[in-house]
Amino acid sequence: MGVGLPPIYAIIISITIYFGIRIFVGRRKKMIERDIGEGICANCGSKIENKKCPICDRKKLGNV
Ligand SMILES: [Zn+2]
Repeated sequence: MGVGLPPIYAIIISITIYFGIRIFVGRRKKMIERDIGEGICANCGSKIENKKCPICDRKKLGNV
């Protein structure tokens, strides 16, 4: 008591944090992949839908 955490707890905490971050990063990656599945527009950075940029395509349609 009062001598600080035993090393095993430090290791367990480190492993927990390590895997926690891994899972978090993995989920983020999947979310981003799903969000930008078809890519990002090179002009405006919007998400591509149906191989078209909703913003640039709309502008084009508006101009024509
Ligand atoms: Zn665009």
